[in-house]
Amino acid sequence: MNPPPFRKILVANRGEIAVRIIRACREMGIRTVAIYSTADRDALHVRLSDESVCVGPPETNVSYRNIPNIISAAEITQAEAIHPGYGFLSENAHFAEICQSAGVIFIGPSPESITLMGDKARAKSLMRETGVPVVPGSEGAISSEEDAITLFREIGLPLIIKASAGGGGRGMRIVHQETDFENAFQAAQTEAYQAFGSKDVYIEKYFINPRHVEIQILADGKGNIYSLGERDCSIQRRHQKLVEEAPSPFLTPKLRQEMSDAALRAAKAAGYTNAGTVEFLVDERKNFFFIEMNTRIQVEHPITESIFQYDLVKAQIRIAAGLPIEPPGKPFGHAIECRINAEDPWTFAPSPGTIQQFMIPGGPGIRVDTAFFSGATVPPNYDSLLAKLIATGRTREEALDRMSRGLSEFVIRGVKTTLPFHLALMNDSEFRKGQYSTGFVEPFLARRPKETEPFEE
Ligand code: ADP
Repeated sequence: MNPPPFRKILVANRGEIAVRIIRACREMGIRTVAIYSTADRDALHVRLSDESVCVGPPETNVSYRNIPNIISAAEITQAEAIHPGYGFLSENAHFAEICQSAGVIFIGPSPESITLMGDKARAKSLMRETGVPVVPGSEGAISSEEDAITLFREIGLPLIIKASAGGGGRGMRIVHQETDFENAFQAAQTEAYQAFGSKDVYIEKYFINPRHVEIQILADGKGNIYSLGERDCSIQRRHQKLVEEAPSPFLTPKLRQEMSDAALRAAKAAGYTNAGTVEFLVDERKNFFFIEMNTRIQVEHPITESIFQYDLVKAQIRIAAGLPIEPPGKPFGHAIECRINAEDPWTFAPSPGTIQQFMIPGGPGIRVDTAFFSGATVPPNYDSLLAKLIATGRTREEALDRMSRGLSEFVIRGVKTTLPFHLALMNDSEFRKGQYSTGFVEPFLARRPKETEPFEE
């Protein structure tokens, strides 16, 4: 084994992603420090880490987002680096800066890159200058209603108003009718301020049923910058991803190459280092448009790992330690991920509680990333992700067959889960053909097979 790039890393997260990072560290010979809230005393990430520090009560702003307590935890345990995972502080430039000034390495891009990409309107302007196609719309944020109305006339309907500092599918308003525009604009500003602390909003053309296709990139800051292809994340509900697959059944080799080139151009223009994801919308005529760049590891990273046989978390750690990374090589086969949530499978209403039985699937081509086990509780304070089920096969068909089998082996009792939704989706003929867009799920739910059994606890 190579000498470990760090002695000790603090993992500033919880749930499956904290477990995922701890696993990478263990394979690299790096000791780990978990942080936890009082709701997570018995959580798997705490059990699997070498050391752990309680950082506060269940509410995330006083625990998993509590910068002073997390920095103190790193200092007390003498951790040399912090991995932020996704969510929480992962895209907080202020936190990345504080890490720097405390002499702890932040495993991610520079605070400047985070700030740049965190301001979506600014990021779009940079992309436009770099020659990356962007969704038509305002250049930068718009503050005055007059400017908004002028633009609105240019762009036409339908359009979408987005918070510059937005994320997680929140802070977006779609306008279909001219008479709705003024109200929507004002409401969007107020919402943006309340949710993200900035009332900056921008306007875009709203595509009807596009594909969401994103490119994974890795840059080591030593001149090596790689694209690890695309993930198709078009299966969404309310702009939140439910299922992802790689490669995209919609892309041609030519389009894949063009999108990868554009993503690499984007990352270079931003002086980007570490792992990042450049997100695009693709219309039915296969034109693609930049929407945003995420400056962290993504939930859906395992599908890329599966087809490239490449550990993205280890690469992130090596990059942060100033080490070069290996080129990814050629992908092979097909991978798909289902996000299994503690929610009603048809209404998606949250379903926290205690898990009485948790039996994960296995066998060829199956990976399960989870932090749950029989007897664990799903606290109401955090997101409802129970497990990510990832199926890989030589072909898309084999991957889907394995996913179907994996979903039917998976047993989770005590809380409602979205397993039945995923199982129905895997057996849907349109989905099987790869014919779907971001508008797929709603009509799918409406026509879902009536023979689907109601959920029984
Ligand atoms: P967030 O960062 O909040 O997730 P994104 O900008 O990544 O927001 O958009 C999330 C989803 O919203 C996209 O995957 C897509 O389904 C939808 N969306 C965003 N912008 C547009 C647009 N201009 N036209 C159509 N759909 C859009």
